[in-house]
Order: sequence, then structure tokens, then C-alpha cells
Amino acid sequence: RAHAPGPDAPVAVELAGVAKRYDGAVAVEDVNLEIREGEFFTLVGPSGCGKTTTLRLIAGFETATEGTVRFGGRDVSGLPPEDRDVGVVFQNYALFPHMTVGENVAYGLNFADPPGGVTREERVAELLELVDLPGTADRDPDSLSGGQRQRVAMARAIAPGPDLLLLDEPMSALDAQLRERLRVQIRTIQRELGITTVYVTHDQEEALAISDRVAVMRGGTPDQVAPPRTVYREPDSRFVAEFVGDNNVFSGTAVDAAGSTGNDVLAVDIDGETLRVATGPGADGTGRGDEPNPDSGDRVTFCVRPEHLEIDRSSNAVRATVESAEFLGETTRVHLDWDGTPLVVRTRDPLTGTVAVGFHPDDAHVIDVERL
Ligand code: ATP
Repeated sequence: RAHAPGPDAPVAVELAGVAKRYDGAVAVEDVNLEIREGEFFTLVGPSGCGKTTTLRLIAGFETATEGTVRFGGRDVSGLPPEDRDVGVVFQNYALFPHMTVGENVAYGLNFADPPGGVTREERVAELLELVDLPGTADRDPDSLSGGQRQRVAMARAIAPGPDLLLLDEPMSALDAQLRERLRVQIRTIQRELGITTVYVTHDQEEALAISDRVAVMRGGTPDQVAPPRTVYREPDSRFVAEFVGDNNVFSGTAVDAAGSTGNDVLAVDIDGETLRVATGPGADGTGRGDEPNPDSGDRVTFCVRPEHLEIDRSSNAVRATVESAEFLGETTRVHLDWDGTPLVVRTRDPLTGTVAVGFHPDDAHVIDVERL
């Protein structure tokens, strides 16, 4: 599958008005999601935001307090997990230690015949090939690395040929380097099979790297559902802007709101300094379309990505003081202070002292407009 499934792909999983409460405590609420066939869809957000609960509701391990779960238009809300045709991989791979790798994978078939008219042994070999562990069927799970074991767990989940693959933080027990490699492998396997996949992670970078679309969850409800580029560049809320990467978020009062159409530039007063922010459709004709049009006097919140803040900029800039820097290899992440407002910049060269830091108006993204 070379391309991400488009918006016209049929809906594979739908959550409509779903809520889950425990003794009145809200785990998730107002969950409305449509996940498309073949899509790699990720639930991301901070601890406790309801990612795992949402996944468990899809798997059938939990029953919704309110709302409906549908697979391909069919209401599955009342079905137990074994009747939902889903493969699940959890955080701690939980392979059976007394079984070989091959027996673990074969266990995923339960007592069913493998799909495609092959023998169980052939199916196991095929699956181990798929997860890039050929010839390991007779090995002990204990003799494999954490990443390899997690791939065996994935092979076991895929064995019966489910319509849907659910992955709950499958890499959280692994070190960072291994996670990066494994996420590429997971994505490759998913593409090869074209299997609809719902993935849970608290790691925003991982979510952006692996997904066709992400749902950024906040307090039990998806805050924004969009492709990675969109949540990164055009966050809908301050929460998403701050959760996804090091966004610089500014709030101020609109002055000189220029008309209501086209590629307008708005001046925003922030404690006596004026910064200009583009509104209307972007120069490349993408994005910005959903932004509200501010009037003079409105409170405007906008964000600028760290890589879009430029040092020694002469216009649309403020003076800020370098507080600290983190060397990251290709770039350095520099933390600055602008009269009490923290700013984050990515640069190649080291920085010290007080510098002019600014941005091109087109690189700002308006998050919110509040009529005062
Ligand atoms: P984490 O990343 O920490 O796993 P999460 O985003 O997956 O978090 P959930 O595990 O879905 O979050 O939990 C959402 C909320 O629901 C939390 O406040 C949690 O305490 C609560 N919750 C989840 N399961 C139960 C339960 N069985 N009984 C009571 N409260 C629960």
C-alpha cells in the first residue's frame, strides 16, 4: 500500500458519542471517531487522557457506558472481544515462556484453520518472515531481545488474519533506539498487510512518525483529529500546540485587523510590542482555512514552531535573553526569555546574551480568537 488511505476509504471503526465512566469518574467522554480501512490511526496524549480505555472499548474488553461502537457500520457494542475479529498487542509482550516462538505464534490461531489454505506450520513460518524473524520458530522467547519478542507478539496477533490490529504502547518497555527501529518495522508490516490499525502512545514524536492520522486526546476526549502534519503545523488548541512539539504560544490583542478575506496580516499587541501574524489562506493555498477572522480588540492566541523563530531578524522581532541550550546534534534547542515569556528556538550556531528573535508572519498559526 503505497499511499495513505484517503478520506473516501470506507469507515472501518466508528465510535459515536462514546463515554466510559467508573462510579461516576469519567475515563472517556464525547468520543466521536471514524477510523478508515487500511488506516494507521494513533491515539496520543498525556497519562490518564483515556487512550487505553478508548482502545479497550474498541477491543471489547470494556463496554461503553454511553454511545455505540461500530465496525464497518455494524454495531458491535455488545460483542465480546473474541467475536470482534481483532488482534491485540499490549505493552508487555506477554509471550508464553514455556512455549517456543512458533508455538506462541500458532497460539494466535486458536483452534481455527489458518487463512489461505496453508498448514499451521506454513502460516507460522510466513508470519515470522513477515515480522522479519525467519527461522526462529524453534527458539525460546527468552533467547530473543525485547524488540524481537514484541514482533513475535505482533505475529501472534496477526495470525488469524484479523480485520483490525490494536496496539497499546507496544514499545514502551524498549529503549529509545530500538523503539525508533521497531516503529519503522511496525509501519512496514502494517502497510504490507493493509490492516486497519489503532495505536496508543503517549509519545508525540512516535505518533507523528508512524501515523496516517492522530487523535490528540485531552481529559477523555479527542481534542484534534488530523494527519500528523496538520496537528504539528496547525494545532486547533493551545493544548495540542503545547503537547505536540515545543510550540511557542503567544496571546495578545488584535490591532489593525485588516479586512476579512485574502492573505491578510494581523497586528497583535502583546504587552506593548506588536507582532504581525498572517491570517486567511496561506501563500501555498493550504492550511489556515479554518482560522477565525479576528476583529480589532479580539484576544488572539497564535503559535510559532521553534524552527520558524529566526535569530537576528530585523522585522517582526522582539529582544530576548538566552537562558539555556541543549545540544541535539543536528541542531541546538535554545531556551530564551522574553520579558517573562519563555521561547524555544532551534539553531545551528551557539547563542548567548540578548538577541533579536522573530518570525515571518506566514509562519505563525492562529489557534484561537476570543471576542472580548
Ligand atoms: P496512561 O498513558 O497513563 O496509560 P491513558 O491515557 O491510557 O493513560 P486510561 O488508562 O484510559 O488513560 O485512563 C483514563 C482515566 O480513567 C484515568 O483517569 C484512569 O484513572 C481512569 N480509569 C481507567 N480505568 C479505570 C478503572 N478500571 N476504574 C476506575 N478508573 C479507571
